[in-house]
This record gives sequence, structure tokens and C-alpha cells, in this order.
Amino acid sequence: MSGLSVYGLQGRVAVVTGAARGIGATISRHLAALGATVVLADRNATVEETARELGSPASALVFDVTDSKAVDAAAKQVLDKHGRVDILVANAGIAYEKSAVDHTDEDWRRVMAVNLDGVFYTARAFAPAMIAKKTGAMVLISSIAGVKAVRPELHVGYDVAKAGVAHMARILAIEWAPFGIRVNAVGPGYVDTELLAEVGRTQPEVMKIWIEDMPIGRLLRQEEIAGTVGFLVSDAATGVNGHLLMTDGGYSVS
Ligand code: NDP
Repeated sequence: MSGLSVYGLQGRVAVVTGAARGIGATISRHLAALGATVVLADRNATVEETARELGSPASALVFDVTDSKAVDAAAKQVLDKHGRVDILVANAGIAYEKSAVDHTDEDWRRVMAVNLDGVFYTARAFAPAMIAKKTGAMVLISSIAGVKAVRPELHVGYDVAKAGVAHMARILAIEWAPFGIRVNAVGPGYVDTELLAEVGRTQPEVMKIWIEDMPIGRLLRQEEIAGTVGFLVSDAATGVNGHLLMTDGGYSVS
């Protein structure tokens, strides 16, 4: 393959978690545009509407990534329906704000459950199908918060979980490389999503700091994160494994 064809995903089955809205929905649209049959997964049933908007052959699955039995059942469902899974994007995540001393045990457990356990359960559940076919590509969504102490917002649990996700990608990449599976992580900077738009409306002083800290002088577009993911899961990136590809406009190196 050469030229643009290495970026194509025709004939591949892709699962994207946290796909009902935001970055996950945009990644799903991008992978579908590149030719993949996308299964949009989310705990929020609105994912069915998002999948309908994409049209056939995209479909939806409703499950919570913190429930490992539900994740295993979802992997079986995808395999039964499609016979293969080529791409997994573990994107589901939650954000919040709280100082370290105010973190309750429940706050800590909740963010670890979704942002760390959930990513592992998902990767573990979909890997056997890839191992069986000796091919597959996974992308785990980390964050600038996983590599740098961000400001001014406080969420130590989120930050530590996202650092763990990047390291998980390295470990799984090495463990599964003999089976033809590549595992990489993507580290988005501040992305223009509904949540950040709300911060902009209610805390303009916070948004001002974020923009000042972004060397490109603006928030990232969701399509820019999707573009990185599309590259990493494509044959253009068959040599890229265990990498954390920051997509942050230079934030992490400034
Ligand atoms: P959103 O909150 O807009 O979307 C996340 C989706 O994931 C929601 O539909 C949410 O459902 C779903 N979800 C949450 N928890 C679970 C769960 N336990 N099981 C299944 N689905 C779940 O997030 P973004 O699009 O902004 O972020 C996507 C990813 O990118 C996250 O991992 C985030 O940490 C990361 N990221 C985002 C950045 C940003 O600037 N936005 C920057 C860096 C990283 P529900 O509606 O029920 O909550």
C-alpha cells in the first residue's frame, strides 16, 4: 500500500467507548469516514442517537466500562455480530474539580474506576479477538494532565489516572506486540467540548489561563484529536507502538 491508501480503514471493525458525545463521537465519525464499521459504546443511551446519525453500518452498544462483566459481554456481542475487532479506542472518561484534601475515598475510587479500571477492562476484553486474528490497534485516551501538573484546575485523581493510562499503553504494547497488536496512547490538550465551553461561560478567568498556556493560542478542535487517533490505528502507523502521542498544540513541551 502507498499514498493515501495506508490511512484507509475499509473492512475494519472499530469500537469506541465514550462515543455518545464529545471527542468519542468525533473520533467515531472520523473512523467511519475512513471506512471502518464503527461500534459506538457508552453508558449513556443517547449513544444510540449518535450512532443513528452516523448511519449504517455504525451501531451502538450501551454499557458501563467500570462493570467488567458488562464489558466482557459487550466484547462477545461485537465478536458474535462482526466476527472480528480490529480497532479499539478507550476514550470513556470523567472529569471533575476538587482539591486534594477535599477528595473523599469515593471521589478517588470513582475516578480510578472509570478513567483507569475502565480502560484496562476494555483493553483486556477486546484483546483476545485481536490475538486470535494476530492483528489489532488500540488507542487509550490519556491527557496533558497525565504528563504535566496542569493549572489552575485541581483534580489529582484524574491526573494520576491519566498518567496510568499512558503507562498502561506502554506495558500492553510490549505484552501484545508478539500477537500483532499495537497499543498507543493519545494525550489531548484542552479541547473545545461542551464542558470547556461551560467553563468559558462561567469561569472566563480560567479559560483565559488555559488559552495563555496553549502555545497555539486556542483550544484544540475535536477533529484534531480524531485525526491523531485515525493515524495511529491505520497502516500508516504500523511502526508506532507503546507511544504517547501528545495532541496538545505544544502545551506539554512549553
Ligand atoms: P465527555 O464528558 O464529553 O464525554 C465522555 C463520554 O463518556 C460521555 O458520553 C459519558 O457518558 C461517557 N462515559 C463516562 N463514564 C463512562 C463509563 N463509566 N462507561 C461508559 N461511558 C462513560 O468527555 P470528552 O469528550 O471531553 O473527553 C473524552 C476523553 O478525552 C476523556 O477520557 C477525557 O478525559 C479525555 N480528555 C478530554 C479533554 C478535553 O479537553 N475535553 C482533554 C484531555 C483529555 P455520561 O454522559 O453518562 O457521562
